[in-house]
Amino acid sequence: MSYLPANLHYSLHVHRMFSLTRLLSVGRSINHFRMASAAATGSRRLEGKVAVVTASTEGIGYAIAKRLGEEGAHVVISSRKQAHVDHALKTLKEANLSVSGLVCHVGKQADRAKLIETAVKENGGLDILVSNAAANPHFGNILDCDEQAWDKIFDINVKSTFLLVKESVPHMVSRGGGSIVVVSSIAGYMPFELLGPYSVSKTALLGLTKALTPQLSDMNIRVNCVAPGLVKTKFSSALLSSEESTKLALSGIPMKRAGTPDEISGIVSFLASDDASYITGENILVAGGAPSRL
Ligand code: NAP
Repeated sequence: MSYLPANLHYSLHVHRMFSLTRLLSVGRSINHFRMASAAATGSRRLEGKVAVVTASTEGIGYAIAKRLGEEGAHVVISSRKQAHVDHALKTLKEANLSVSGLVCHVGKQADRAKLIETAVKENGGLDILVSNAAANPHFGNILDCDEQAWDKIFDINVKSTFLLVKESVPHMVSRGGGSIVVVSSIAGYMPFELLGPYSVSKTALLGLTKALTPQLSDMNIRVNCVAPGLVKTKFSSALLSSEESTKLALSGIPMKRAGTPDEISGIVSFLASDDASYITGENILVAGGAPSRL
């Protein structure tokens, strides 16, 4: 899936958008940055937990699934294409992780129901939900977005997140509680000019997290949201496709580099775990210092 078209206009826009115009000193080394690593922690804090992660056959979702598995959870992965599910399952099993998986297009009610039901039936319950899927069929000025594209963006990014939460909650309640992590975006804090509707949908997820918090707290379920900045995946490949576009894309990021999916997975694993037992209703930006304005 590619959310971002491969053209330089977008990069120029990002450059403007971040407004921090400190020019990139390409020579500034990033080698001294310590990269996140699940193996480095050796933590098994999710032992005995069952987790469902949507859109988890590549990119950020895959890294999250891997990390939750490394920390001891059984992880149920999913995405739209069976071949992708099979491939991801193979690599995760080769890493000796406890995983299973099935097809789930998050916009399809029957797929969502099957995902949750299968996870519960095969593993005895559900403790963790990570809602990670997103779509962006519109690139351009916001007023040029047609109704169909608008509906798709909000169906996949916002409505299906809400419905997945609704569908998961009864199972978490029967386990005595749970943890939900929603994946938003830095675009939710500061709309990308040419990704207006997508950005608004990501802002809605920041609000959804806050709106869910009181009721879920009564059920001992925590809900938090992670907003990644620029992360190296298919999604962002257009931005990092040439030296020039890379330079522009990184110019608003104090750390002067894109993040890796593994650098998003660590915070998700933390939020899902009991180490975050007093954290709920939070929106956490993971963006190398890129500014947010909420
Ligand atoms: P990605 O690398 O393009 O991965 C997309 C994954 O989503 C694939 O596993 C794909 O598999 C699955 N998928 C796509 N549409 C789906 C749907 N309707 N239902 C279920 N699965 C679906 O994307 P990514 O960069 O990891 O993005 C993951 C999340 O991070 C998204 O919410 C995105 O908005 C957010 N994010 C990314 C960045 C970034 O710079 N990369 C920045 C901010 C926020 P199939 O093709 O098999 O469905």
